[in-house]
Amino acid sequence: MAEKPRYSIVAPVYNEAGNLRRFYEEVQAALDSTGEAWELLLINDGSVDGSQEIMERLAEADRRIKVINFARNFGHQIAVTAGVDYASGSAVVLIDADLQDPPAVIPRLIAKWKEGYDVVYAVRTERKGESFLKRTSAKLFYRMIHRITDISIPVDTGDFRLMDAKVADVLRQMREHHRFIRGMTSWVGYRQTGVPYVREKRIWGETKYPWRKMIAFALDAVTSFSFFPLQIMLYISLILGILSLLVGIVISVLRITMGEEFFGGQATTIVLLLLLSSFQLFFLFILGQYVARTYDETRDRPLYIVASTAGISEPGVRNQRVNRAVNPDRSQEDGLREPGKGPE
Ligand code: UDP
Ligand code: MG
Repeated sequence: MAEKPRYSIVAPVYNEAGNLRRFYEEVQAALDSTGEAWELLLINDGSVDGSQEIMERLAEADRRIKVINFARNFGHQIAVTAGVDYASGSAVVLIDADLQDPPAVIPRLIAKWKEGYDVVYAVRTERKGESFLKRTSAKLFYRMIHRITDISIPVDTGDFRLMDAKVADVLRQMREHHRFIRGMTSWVGYRQTGVPYVREKRIWGETKYPWRKMIAFALDAVTSFSFFPLQIMLYISLILGILSLLVGIVISVLRITMGEEFFGGQATTIVLLLLLSSFQLFFLFILGQYVARTYDETRDRPLYIVASTAGISEPGVRNQRVNRAVNPDRSQEDGLREPGKGPE
């Protein structure tokens, strides 16, 4: 690299073959307008549609492009994490590669950064081309997260944001496996602000976030930043306890005054039994979510596995933190490691 980039643009890519060229052109147009040096980090999250070839060709033609190919699909949040690990700019911008986050907004994020803000997130004032269900669930989700977490995660913001190098440095130290990046950047603190923008519709391809993944993502978000679901069990158990006491008293009184055969039926018992079991199973599920995540974190597997890179000249990963990512260049130096254990 001739010049240290001032801006690092990080874009996760999972089967975006039809978007990549235009995405690159729009990023280039937006960043060249700043007159400063930049790099574009494309993280290929296990694409199977020829995206890799397109990205590598782009990297050959433009030295500012760096491609990191994962060994398989690790998910959007992990892909973004790898991009931040490899980024070397004074400001790092996270953006989707499907053009739903318009690259033309980046100079506005940069302007706020130059005013002295450390995190500048893009706030969606409008979402185009997304179903009513997706928009409503997203709206509810952001508001719920806002209410039940201790940190202030701004509503209606995705991962599209700019962060100062010092915030990126903190993120590099946060090696949790279940990642909710937008929460993590809020958690860091410093000076944060928002810039409004209109979220465009996908011009090519389909969303890679089906319901299943969205629910998993929501669970990660909640468990990463809140113990509310665990605490609410206390209140529900108190309410049910008091209720059972009251019902006990009422039934005793009725039996004494109205005779033995009162409340002879089994239906009430069965319904209550089912209702309470369902409560209990639900809370076991919640508890399980926290326990499983604790297990995942203690196992401490690498966050991602890099199969190959293009356009990255330095061997190894500059910002790679100890043990958390396997990199082909480093594996050779360190010799073979046990699976599941990273370097050092
Ligand atoms: N993405 C990824 N890995 C995945 C799913 C998505 O890298 O497993 C990328 C995808 O290529 C896109 C961004 O993450 O650049 C956002 O994904 P998508 O557009 O499917 O999500 P949506 O905008 O519908 O929420
Ligand atoms: Mg999208």
